[in-house]
Amino acid sequence: MGSVVVSVDAELGWGFVDYERPPESRVESARSGWQTLCRLFDAYDVPATWAVVGHLFHEACDGRHPDHPAGSEWFAPERGLWADRPDLTCGPELIDAVRNSGPDHEIGCHTYSHVLFGDDETTSDVAAAELARSRAVADEWGIDLQSFVFPRNEVGHRDQLAEHGFGAYRGGRPVARRTLPQKLKTVAFGSGAPPLVTPAVDEYGLVDVPASLFLYSFEGPALRATKPVVGDPIVELVERGLDAAAEGEGVLHLWLHPNNLVGEPQVQRFEGVLRAIDAHRDEVPVETMAEVAARTRAEPQTVATDGWG
Ligand SMILES: [Zn+2]
Ligand SMILES: [Zn+2]
Repeated sequence: MGSVVVSVDAELGWGFVDYERPPESRVESARSGWQTLCRLFDAYDVPATWAVVGHLFHEACDGRHPDHPAGSEWFAPERGLWADRPDLTCGPELIDAVRNSGPDHEIGCHTYSHVLFGDDETTSDVAAAELARSRAVADEWGIDLQSFVFPRNEVGHRDQLAEHGFGAYRGGRPVARRTLPQKLKTVAFGSGAPPLVTPAVDEYGLVDVPASLFLYSFEGPALRATKPVVGDPIVELVERGLDAAAEGEGVLHLWLHPNNLVGEPQVQRFEGVLRAIDAHRDEVPVETMAEVAARTRAEPQTVATDGWG
């Protein structure tokens, strides 16, 4: 029997800190999307792993981070573009809302300020600082961070994760053996289901819980073209993934950002996903990344496989 995991990259403005012009609809949907997710997870009693940017634990910040090896330029939006928008860089009340809501959510980590761990220019020192600061602020809340999500899902500095006491991370989605155009065609129109992933302990002792499906990768014209015929194609893919998980082994690992909920169609999609998870919950249990990691450590290890269905 497989299981399903939902992980949430919770970042407010930080997801766009390195953008010259952050996309306004996404940025401005970050808070409302966060609250909507909380409400919907509550309504369907689905626990998730919330990978939170550490800076959001702060009540306020002057935008000066003199001891951070990323350098003051990285934090420039806090002092410039977002100087009068602390609601985009701090959010302790939002973290509280997750903690105090009904489902037993896990609070994990999405770095301290969304430094890109997969970037060649990100040094080990910078990665270490991001992790140490995240752990320090979470510690003050009595939260023991266990799971980590890499910004833009670009894996790097796993040795530092292990060193800073993390136990699990979301790895990249398995690469299909098909060529890319075929893969896209299958995902968009056809017989495919998102891959069920096989969590595995890596060489640093961390549990890799790879991604199966980003819930907002399929938008725009394609969505409008198919919607009247078969309903939301992503909800359809999730249904297929849940059916596969009910019959087989592996994890269906879904993920999104609160700021993906830019409008009613996006909210409806997520509600459709939760409705499907709820309808399958007797055969496909919902887990957090930390629960998957604990279970994986207790099992004899298997070699990770390409789970494309
Ligand atoms: Zn700051
Ligand atoms: Zn992010």
